[in-house]
Amino acid sequence: MKERNAVSRRKFVGGLAAALGYVSTGPDLDVFAQGRAAGQGRPAAAGAARAPQTEAQYDALAKLANNENNFGIPDSVMKAMTDHWKYAGRYGYPGAGVQQAIAEYDGVKAENVMLSHGSGEILSIIGTALLQGGKKVLGVDPTYASVYSHASNIKSEAIRVPLTKDYRQPIDQLIELANKHKNELGFVYICNPNNPTGVIVKKQEIKKLLDSIPAGMPVLIDEAYHHYVNDPDYATSMPYVAEGRPVVVARTFSKIAGMAALRIGYAVAPTDLLQKMRVYQGGAINVLAQYGAVAALKDKAAMAEVKAKTIALREKTAKDLKALGYEVIPSEANFFMVGLRREVQPVIAAFREEGVLVGRPFPPMTQHLRVSVGTPEEMDRFMVAFKKVMSAPVTTSQQG
Ligand code: PLP
Repeated sequence: MKERNAVSRRKFVGGLAAALGYVSTGPDLDVFAQGRAAGQGRPAAAGAARAPQTEAQYDALAKLANNENNFGIPDSVMKAMTDHWKYAGRYGYPGAGVQQAIAEYDGVKAENVMLSHGSGEILSIIGTALLQGGKKVLGVDPTYASVYSHASNIKSEAIRVPLTKDYRQPIDQLIELANKHKNELGFVYICNPNNPTGVIVKKQEIKKLLDSIPAGMPVLIDEAYHHYVNDPDYATSMPYVAEGRPVVVARTFSKIAGMAALRIGYAVAPTDLLQKMRVYQGGAINVLAQYGAVAALKDKAAMAEVKAKTIALREKTAKDLKALGYEVIPSEANFFMVGLRREVQPVIAAFREEGVLVGRPFPPMTQHLRVSVGTPEEMDRFMVAFKKVMSAPVTTSQQG
């Protein structure tokens, strides 16, 4: 009986996840379902055999695999959530005002904002809404492949273009393909800055793309790591929504705001696109997450502090790795990629043995390791582990 309940609960959760199009719902799931997130339809082997079982085991790991904010939830966000526990048992609580707060923060109208359970939900919803009838999504490889996985889940396809030699998204090629395949495409996906490289698409390139693809073709611009960028050639694409272009900008509170497990994100888009997307929206957003999100948007000082600490640690670690003779791709996000000159999969497993979780493989960049920027202690542990792992002899299976 117990087993049957467990099985049916598993089935229920699985069915719900499939219905919502989730690739992952928690930190350990995300790490150990890495292959799935990369759109390969199977879990990655690295570390999979040793998923953390207890809180103590999980807490002991250096968590540099999921681009979270390892400095933790800002005090102001904690306070806002704690102050509103009284509504946790209610349906009809007063609105937290999160849609309005987002609209003010991003300079758009509240009617252009749609909340979601993390921005991952937006990436799935837009797929379901715009790829109906066998339409395809166009984007680069590698990128955050959740849109591609979702497309394949709903029996749709993706046209995936490799990055340039210097790890940029080939905008001219995307324009050419968008025009060539205009009748087949449901939307174009751009992750800016791109995950896993941390490389931006310049504002001039975004404008060129939007001006040069067929009129009316929707473009999903995933700005999950927007808050970390310093490059003056980067700009958010929010103003294009205000201009009335068919642009959907996805944002999340999972990264700089430190709220990954609270599951709140949003899309900013023209109302006609939002109308198509709302049909597939999940239920209400957790009330505490809503109050937390409002506080996160208001606490610009906390965001600036996390940004500054993260960038300083990213640059220090990159310098240390370069001093050891490794190539580091210049990043504008809270993660970076280091070129290993050997296959990454066994290296990820070796890091796991050292208690350090690092990013999944991102084919076709199978000799690059993605490292999220953690706390100073975690980055120290990373460097110690890096020296040990990389100085160990390469086994035949590692040479691939
Ligand atoms: N977009 C990008 C580029 C990401 O890297 C992630 C998560 O790592 C997401 C979207 C989804 O994040 P969440 O659903 O937690 O907002």
